[in-house]
Amino acid sequence: MRIKMWGVRGSIPTPGPDTVEFGGNTSCYEVRCGDALVILDGGTGLRLLGQDLLKEMPIEAWMFFSHVHWDHIQGFPFFTPAFVRGNTFHLRGGVNVSRTLEETLAGQMDYPSFPVHLSEMGATMTFRDLYEGESVMVGPKNDVKVTTARGNHPNGVYAYRVEYQGKVVVYITDSEHYAIVDPKLKKLAMNADVLIFDAMYTPEEYEGQIGGPKTGWGHATFVAGCELAKAANVKRLVLHHHDPGQNDAMVREKERRAQALFPNTMAAREGFVIEL
Ligand SMILES: [Zn+2]
Ligand SMILES: [Zn+2]
Repeated sequence: MRIKMWGVRGSIPTPGPDTVEFGGNTSCYEVRCGDALVILDGGTGLRLLGQDLLKEMPIEAWMFFSHVHWDHIQGFPFFTPAFVRGNTFHLRGGVNVSRTLEETLAGQMDYPSFPVHLSEMGATMTFRDLYEGESVMVGPKNDVKVTTARGNHPNGVYAYRVEYQGKVVVYITDSEHYAIVDPKLKKLAMNADVLIFDAMYTPEEYEGQIGGPKTGWGHATFVAGCELAKAANVKRLVLHHHDPGQNDAMVREKERRAQALFPNTMAAREGFVIEL
């Protein structure tokens, strides 16, 4: 299994000199499981992944969307392989995360917001919304297992566990922590090799010592990520969905503080690859 980080920022892209180290593109991860290509979320990082995929067309990929807030779908209209006939994309989202995934992806490309409609994109697309707790087998050999769980986020969110030949990556984005470790997410993340977790805030930011309180906004702290990683016996924690207000120095500091709680932690950074 090979995981590549294409977009690690939360809420809105943040290009500029203060974010070059960790990157400014929003959520997108490429997960290779043997021949199978799994894509987690379609934030602006998806555009760059699309450019990279041009050299291996025709392609077939399974795309899992956590939810349909802008920062998780906005790269899709700029995902060049989706315009090319002969490519196939299986698009999966969670049931009851606002409208269906197909309606929402089409909606962001409706006149007058975008010049080309989803139905005019050339690739073959299949859509299906998944139920909470559902597991599906994907890939050309049907040997990659993807399991869902619901997180805690306004309008809903789904987290995903991807398993292939005994290796496991779990992707939990946009999910606010509770006073205790969420038993559902603990179960989803159990014994994962890599846990990618929404660690948008420091505790000070979350509690409102910096800016207003962020309670109910649907995002977690790095402390919550470390607690989940410990409770679920995770091998490696990846802090994801950096707040757009955090520059490189702030993300580095968040990473350092998290490593004091859970040593095998890194802050997600664009372009970084994890091989399992
Ligand atoms: Zn988000
Ligand atoms: Zn969101």
